[in-house]
Amino acid sequence: MSHIFFESQKESWPGLSLACRDLACVQTRELVCGNDAITLQYNPARQISSGAALDKESIRKRPCFLCVENQPPEQQGILYRDTYLILCNPAPIFDHHFTVGSLTHEPQDIMSSFDMLVQMAMDASPDYTVFYNGPACGASAPDHLHFQMIPYEALPFLKELTQPPMIKIDPSVRMAAGKSCDRSVVVMESKNAAALKKHFLRFLKIIQTILSSDDEPLINVFCSYEKDRWQVISFLRRKHRPAAYFAEGDQRIFVSPGAIDMAGVVITPRLADFENLDGDTLQSIYREVSLDKKTFKKIIRSLTPCPQKKSLSTAP
Ligand SMILES: [Zn+2]
Repeated sequence: MSHIFFESQKESWPGLSLACRDLACVQTRELVCGNDAITLQYNPARQISSGAALDKESIRKRPCFLCVENQPPEQQGILYRDTYLILCNPAPIFDHHFTVGSLTHEPQDIMSSFDMLVQMAMDASPDYTVFYNGPACGASAPDHLHFQMIPYEALPFLKELTQPPMIKIDPSVRMAAGKSCDRSVVVMESKNAAALKKHFLRFLKIIQTILSSDDEPLINVFCSYEKDRWQVISFLRRKHRPAAYFAEGDQRIFVSPGAIDMAGVVITPRLADFENLDGDTLQSIYREVSLDKKTFKKIIRSLTPCPQKKSLSTAP
């Protein structure tokens, strides 16, 4: 249904139609980053989103683009489970890229919305994966609860992540954790939504305890559903934007990593960055914005049952 909806919005909404035409001729480039292949996407239309001011004052002052009353007149939505609206993303990164926003203006919060993420992933399967950007690490509307939905095949890296050896942390929940190109990644999978939620929330609590903070940990979360099983992939972050984002002149690198960038498709709205970025620089950006190795190890040690610690995949 979403597919038909996206196509019909392209017909009735010239802005979206134009954005999709631009997307069709967008340039991409492959980079090797550590052991991983990363795709750069030169997408000038993402300049607004990547360059958005996200401080509290700027957010408070701007009209919220996810509130229905501020949406463009051409934008239509599909009501989802009476509480969310499925919308076509007006600056898509992939063909058929949706934003799923709460009907009410309430802040991004993964703990209270995890049930919905899991439900949405099941409803969106097998064609789509659903993801969440934390309010301080990628969400362009941190004040309005929302998820995004993209084609499942769009991010090959996510599939690779489900290959490493998994360990059982519960009779029905398996997990793997490790560094991949200096990103801090945790994968959990289960056929049991309640058990998955229990361990995901415990995971967040452990991070809060170790970081001595009550705030939501900086996290980008993907959730997919395949063969009766959910997969939740989390990227743990230290900060949103790298220092080079704020640099002047030639030193500036205009990348603003959210979930999609962390999962291996890095958006570069400026041609210079698209042409100049190399694997080493990208890896150093991943290192800078990801939770550091020492803290990450501490979290994983607390999360996993002691006797099986050694079987964790913790690539250097
Ligand atoms: Zn809003």
